[in-house]
Amino acid sequence: SNQPESVLIQKLQEKYSDIDTTKINTFADFPLCPQTQKGLKESGYIKPTEIQREAIGLSLQGKDILGAAQTGSGKTLAFIIPILERLYCLQWSRLDGLGALIITPTRELAYQIFETLRKVGAHHDFSAGLIIGGKDLKFERTRMDQCNIVICTPGRLLHHMDENPLFDCVNMKILVLDEADRCLDMGFEQTMNAIIANLPPVRQTLLFSATQTKSVKDLARLSLKDPKYVSVHEHA
Ligand code: ADP
Ligand code: MG
Repeated sequence: SNQPESVLIQKLQEKYSDIDTTKINTFADFPLCPQTQKGLKESGYIKPTEIQREAIGLSLQGKDILGAAQTGSGKTLAFIIPILERLYCLQWSRLDGLGALIITPTRELAYQIFETLRKVGAHHDFSAGLIIGGKDLKFERTRMDQCNIVICTPGRLLHHMDENPLFDCVNMKILVLDEADRCLDMGFEQTMNAIIANLPPVRQTLLFSATQTKSVKDLARLSLKDPKYVSVHEHA
């Protein structure tokens, strides 16, 4: 169609309030932009998993999420899709800097998230990067300044925040805390608290954790505002 992008975006967003999880069978049933739909299709993702079905609608509506879900339940798309949609709706460009930050416990998980983002986000024009160490700080810093979506490990991110007083995250819209319980188990509790204290308070936060320990609940209290609780049970 020849409608300006802003009109298409407005029409898409008007559908968010009508999302009925019980009527979602395929990703095409979600009000997602054509770029994301195409990326999902080309990556072979047709039907959302339970956590995706439960979390994506609420995330599109702008809610904070406390998601309880095991490894292998499909958490990656449950946060990547809302990130892509949010930045798309804001008509985020490379010049807008950091829009979404994903914190995950290990380099390995960071790489996996990056790969999924690369595939599913292929028809968007956002820049994405990994901040996980292994490259010198200066290299990572230069890259981070140019990234719209950053995937990082907690220690390395805090290192950047400490080293670089100009670390610029004022525009950031979405924070994802992936495998929060593992981050805490690895001794990153203080690090996570310090990171959250450095981030803009007005943002959307999606927190995922396999277990709901006391320390996860403390982190949730610190990082989430009026969260929607999404719990997915294992099916044999
Ligand atoms: P988690 O982060 O919860 O451990 P992942 O997001 O890594 O889970 O997904 C686990 C596996 O399931 C991956 O191989 C992924 O490609 C696959 N997967 C995720 N969502 C879907 C889906 N909707 N349809 C088919 N496969 C999926
Ligand atoms: Mg994962």
